[in-house]
Amino acid sequence: MSKRIPKKIKQEIALEKIKTLFKEASKQKDLKLANRYVDIARKTAMKVNLTIPRELKRRFCKHCYHYLIPGKNCRVRIHENKVIYYCSDCKKYMRYMLRR
Ligand SMILES: [Zn+2]
Repeated sequence: MSKRIPKKIKQEIALEKIKTLFKEASKQKDLKLANRYVDIARKTAMKVNLTIPRELKRRFCKHCYHYLIPGKNCRVRIHENKVIYYCSDCKKYMRYMLRR
């Protein structure tokens, strides 16, 4: 039955769900619960072959998938024209190019 729903529609529904999950995660004081939201969001995206939007991707660690809160479990630095995120949970870095 679910096969009848076009892929595009499924992806749209998934994207809405993902956005909601990140919104909930951002309000969460319990980091474990925020990480759980990220986990569900990632799985939702994977299920329908959807890439999580760039602005949301930056809100969790790409190594350990923990939700990142600057000043709490992550450090954000700007170096040359890159933004460097340091995850203090897995001690790894992520680098993003700055546009403009
Ligand atoms: Zn990490």
